[in-house]
Amino acid sequence: MSDTLIKAADAAAATPHPDFDAVVVGAGFAGLYALHKLRDQLGLRVCVLEAGSGVGGTWYWNRYPGARCDIESIHYSYSFSNELQQEWEWSEKFASQPEILRYLNHVADRFELHEDITFDTRVDSVVWDDSTATWQVSTDTGHTVSARYFISAAGNLSVPKEPEFAGTDVFTGELYMTGKWPHHDVDFTGKRVAVIGTGSSGIQVITEVAKQAEHLTVFQRTPTYATPLRNGPADPDRVAAIKATYPEMRMASRNTQGGIVFDRDPLPSAMAVTPEERRRVYDDRWELGGFHISSASFNDIVTDKAANDTISNYVRERIRECINDPALAERLVPTTYPYGTKRPTFEAAYYDAYNRDNVTLVDVSDAPITTLSPSGLRTAHDDYDFDMIILATGFDAMTGPLLKMNITGRNGQRLADKWARGPRTFLGIQVHGFPNLFTITGPQSPSVLYNMPLAVEDHVDFAADAITYLCAHGYNTIEPTAEAEDAWVVQNNALADQSLLPGTNSWWMGANVPGKPRVCLVFLAGANVYRGICEDVVNGGYHEFSLTLEGQPVRETVG
Ligand code: FAD
Ligand code: NAP
Repeated sequence: MSDTLIKAADAAAATPHPDFDAVVVGAGFAGLYALHKLRDQLGLRVCVLEAGSGVGGTWYWNRYPGARCDIESIHYSYSFSNELQQEWEWSEKFASQPEILRYLNHVADRFELHEDITFDTRVDSVVWDDSTATWQVSTDTGHTVSARYFISAAGNLSVPKEPEFAGTDVFTGELYMTGKWPHHDVDFTGKRVAVIGTGSSGIQVITEVAKQAEHLTVFQRTPTYATPLRNGPADPDRVAAIKATYPEMRMASRNTQGGIVFDRDPLPSAMAVTPEERRRVYDDRWELGGFHISSASFNDIVTDKAANDTISNYVRERIRECINDPALAERLVPTTYPYGTKRPTFEAAYYDAYNRDNVTLVDVSDAPITTLSPSGLRTAHDDYDFDMIILATGFDAMTGPLLKMNITGRNGQRLADKWARGPRTFLGIQVHGFPNLFTITGPQSPSVLYNMPLAVEDHVDFAADAITYLCAHGYNTIEPTAEAEDAWVVQNNALADQSLLPGTNSWWMGANVPGKPRVCLVFLAGANVYRGICEDVVNGGYHEFSLTLEGQPVRETVG
């Protein structure tokens, strides 16, 4: 079938043979699966370009101490091969970064993926050539390759945010970013260390550095609502039970909002039960750990402010219980935004760090960091001296990796111009005016609110199905109609407006990067609803898309 597909496509295309059928950018969860799917199942000629020196993506770059996933590994892993999911053994409930990186290297070895990946190569220009119906993909190594399909597997959280303060070049001590952690050992012993940022990365690194540094100073702009992760060794009985019905469990996961089957189902409304029942539910989910509290308690906590108050107050109360000094506790308790309107964070001894004598919290909400200095950093109020500064300040999420590639579509239109007021996509995977571009887990898909390996598989499968459809019908290009895209953007914004998310400065809203358009970057109706919509699109024969043959429209339809 594979050879036939290629021949059909080549016969249909009145274009010179491109260098590759598909270029894939990125060798994380998405790029590895895209290579396997397109090369081994569709028989396409595929080239993967990766900026790093190895596979792993997120898990290649984020090597900071304490880095681990917060979705149980038995879920946070590929489902596409039952053999793979049966044979791999996770040592912990929530695997650490080194173990996830080992897993992704194992996948690359097992499916012989390395040979088609070019490492140490950053894509810096991607231009659509209408005359040949190909993408021209250029790299920082000075090469340009052509391909019929361009698959961005560049990730959502792969471009660290530019620091908002000056002076990163003048600090004479050691300076690290969690999202670009060095490969050599970093020793905190006997050092005065600063960590800037208290999101998911910050709280993981703070917990570890506190144990070793002579002194750790945490610069906090906004406190987080961290709840217990409850990690531990993998439970063999639980693993065996899951493996006995792994494919069924994966299918059940895909039919949930977030791509995970929890130990408890959420109840419809926090306001529909008595305060005692509510408390019982929160206590139960608190003990279960991880996403149980946010995703398996009540369904209305991010849509109804009164419901949200109940969980926000509950978590605040639990945080206070963790901190010995009541005044310090108040500075660690979030008060300026509702729980769950920033991406939930999970801790294991994060709050304990503040009970140590060698840890100081500096609140920079009113006195921002203005610059790093040769000996440390300066806030609007004070100067501080450090041997080491760690930036845990987050990412230019969702749109950043795509825009950094300088993508230019049909008629010279730049993606950056098209998205100047926020992303415009259909299903978060295709963009009108950018034929044969597939954005795996792109903005306006459920992506980061969906257990990511499953989200990745769904999107790669969608792209592969679309390519198969093109080849089978002898078409050259596919892109969504402007009408379908407009409707998708409206639907995304309407969903966001029905939630509490727009009121909070989060990366979900693009609000963590100065100057970035403030729009919701994630489709909020849930992975299950989204999957249904995608299925309807495919079963309906791609009616929301324009298809061309030799540059001529074969069908113009309105979504
Ligand atoms: P990535 O893993 O980000 O891979 C993208 C790759 O593309 C990178 O290797 C990058 O170098 C490469 N790339 C980007 N641009 C270019 C370019 N222009 N040229 C060449 N190469 C390029 N999600 C969860 O669901 N659960 C979790 O527990 C979880 N934990 C996380 C922990 C951390 C520390 C972070 C940062 C994210 C976490 N995430 C988690 C989200 C995580 O990003 C995804 O789960 C998943 O790893 C994304 O895989 P990906 O292949 O789509 O992208
Ligand atoms: P983040 O959630 O965006 O957190 C960044 C932190 O840096 C915030 O506390 C932010 O404060 C602070 N900050 C940014 N600029 C600052 C400045 N100029 N001065 C002071 N503080 C500043 O980024 P992240 O922690 O890297 O996490 C990003 C995402 O990656 C997560 O939401 C999650 O999806 C994923 N992740 C997951 C895990 C996991 O456990 N599985 C671990 C790490 C990351 P403000 O809130 O005030 O902006």
